[in-house]
Amino acid sequence: MTDKEQFEALSYKRRNAYEVMGEAECSDMDALCNEYKSFLDAGKTERECVKESVRLAGEHGFKNLDEVSSLKAGDRVYKLNRGKNILLAVIGSEDITSGINLVGAHIDSPRLDLKQNPLYESCDTALLKTHYYGGIKKYQWTAIPLAMHGVVYTESGKKIELDIGESENDPVFCVTDLLPHLAADQMSKKMSEGIDGESLNILIGGVPVKSEDVSEKVKFAVLKHINERYGMTERDFQTAEIEVVPAFKARNVGLDESFIGAYGQDDRVCGFTTLKSILDLDAPKKTAMAILVDKEEIGSMGNTGAQSAFFNMAVAEIAEKLTGACTVTQYNKIIENSVCMSSDVNAGVDPNYESVFEKKNASFCNGGVVLTKYTGARGKSGSSDASAELVARLAGIMADNNVLWQTGELGKVDQGGGGTIAQYVANLNMEVIDCGVPVLSMHSPFEITAKADVYMAYRAYMAFYKDC
Ligand code: MN
Ligand code: MN
Repeated sequence: MTDKEQFEALSYKRRNAYEVMGEAECSDMDALCNEYKSFLDAGKTERECVKESVRLAGEHGFKNLDEVSSLKAGDRVYKLNRGKNILLAVIGSEDITSGINLVGAHIDSPRLDLKQNPLYESCDTALLKTHYYGGIKKYQWTAIPLAMHGVVYTESGKKIELDIGESENDPVFCVTDLLPHLAADQMSKKMSEGIDGESLNILIGGVPVKSEDVSEKVKFAVLKHINERYGMTERDFQTAEIEVVPAFKARNVGLDESFIGAYGQDDRVCGFTTLKSILDLDAPKKTAMAILVDKEEIGSMGNTGAQSAFFNMAVAEIAEKLTGACTVTQYNKIIENSVCMSSDVNAGVDPNYESVFEKKNASFCNGGVVLTKYTGARGKSGSSDASAELVARLAGIMADNNVLWQTGELGKVDQGGGGTIAQYVANLNMEVIDCGVPVLSMHSPFEITAKADVYMAYRAYMAFYKDC
């Protein structure tokens, strides 16, 4: 063996997915990514993602757990939580006390939420006030076409599902921004202060009613419009949940079409690949579960977030329906023997901003799925640090299944950081590791992923379900 050969044998070199994928894999990747883009277009809110997941689950033989009285190996079920959170399970042939293989992703994404009293008139236009959701760079949300999705209950109790701005014939909405000619003061501010949270107001109308009796004529016209169209009054905004999101659809990016650009890929890229792998899974040894959670972007709080008891309750129900009765000891065994892949995105190295990454430990687009041992910030604070035993075991499974993977860390030490749902899963006393797809322009209205990494994430979850 030459020194060069020996060095190559002994050292680690990150690989590019296109060095390892054959023609058949590239065509599988393209088919998967076409489905993924449709999933993104069908689900721009957590509610819509859950609805689409239920539809796809039905097509793949999954039944609602509420309508099933007992379970056996091979059964496929899902359980819904308030229309915003879903758990899917495929019952394994092994006893459930040997543990569950769980993949968990979040399906909420940063956006602008309407306030409860949003509507007002100013300067002969009607606008809607918002409160942003999740960590956004506010300047990115101005001067782009926006769509409105949500749920409104009228005072008479009628439920209205809003979806305005996605069809070609729909109008869109917009947060206006200052012209450069008059932006001398704005442009001299710090970037974080250039756009004020209270100025993220959405333009929704400009035609006044012809009336001498009413002073707010444009607001009146908007109220008349939503009343005629939806039976809504201004009061109904107070009880509604309306999310404002980018109006554009998922697109291929690059001349080689190797990237996907879309809103909400953090974390629907993992949400979709997680869902797709459990839908495609057949007769696993261990019981496989997938959970798609809400509220990750605001701390996983609330009854539909990863900190909710929903997961424990769903596992208990499944265990009971499998065994007839599940004791506390059996339940504890299930949890402590379980392994979770917390599937969330990582920051891919951005060629425009190389300096914030430590490139030996950062993830790269087309480098494959990322296994992130720890996240956190300022000395790994707020992180679940996966054990060597778990990482080694999963690395072996990835190798056996020809899944290209890389390690990842969210930026240089002390540059910033972030967390995922992994810590909350770990707190239940399960083994857990973060695993997901590198993203560029994370939390922007148009996030970028590489198709090869989307494909490798799907392959990784599939390998995990089959072999862990
Ligand atoms: Mn995320
Ligand atoms: Mn995020």
